[in-house]
Amino acid sequence: MFFVVTDKNVNFALHFCCWEMREDDWNFNDMFLENKANRSKQKGWIEVICGSMFSGKTEELLRRVKRARFARQKIELFKPAIDTRYAEEAVVSHDEQAMCSTAVNHSSEILLYVNMETVEVVAIDEVQFFDEGIVEVCARLAEAGIRVIAAGLDMDYQGKPFRAMPQLMSVAEYVSKMHAICVHCGDLANFSHRLNAQQQQVLIGEQESYEPLCRHCFNLIIKNKQENENF
Ligand SMILES: [Zn+2]
Repeated sequence: MFFVVTDKNVNFALHFCCWEMREDDWNFNDMFLENKANRSKQKGWIEVICGSMFSGKTEELLRRVKRARFARQKIELFKPAIDTRYAEEAVVSHDEQAMCSTAVNHSSEILLYVNMETVEVVAIDEVQFFDEGIVEVCARLAEAGIRVIAAGLDMDYQGKPFRAMPQLMSVAEYVSKMHAICVHCGDLANFSHRLNAQQQQVLIGEQESYEPLCRHCFNLIIKNKQENENF
């Protein structure tokens, strides 16, 4: 992960910790979206964890999955087959936490793997890479009483909404927007800036391909690039 250590960041971190500890805050409540003790009456719902590259989305997904696993809940974890950055059959975060997952090519395959009668939690990583049908798949799982946790990029490298993410966020009961830290100024980063000139929307990459930027720094860099292209 990228961290630019400045006084501003330290102040922000302190502020964030205090802010997160307040029980009446929505973000605190988002941290503990667990199933009710009486599972026979469980109603399903959708949680979306979104944000830029390096914002900790997968770590947050795995944190929620681990808590459910400690509670001995039946969990299925999926990821798109396209994302093979670290391991074919595992969801791995940037800090190298890993859990076994099922890699699928199409959203509809998820329904084939999930036993609606027994599974309590379905977690999906890199959900932005799925086809548009993922919204309907998540809705069907939630309607069957399953807790659905989906993590993904909300914007592509151009700052545009990523595929079905806006629709998924719209129908979700809970949306957690994660932030990285801007590598240029240290403010909160919302954008994933691509460092090379490739223009396809989906480009699987890591530190060498992207950097997290705030809105101001992102717009400044895009403007400079456009000016250079015109010369
Ligand atoms: Zn910045």
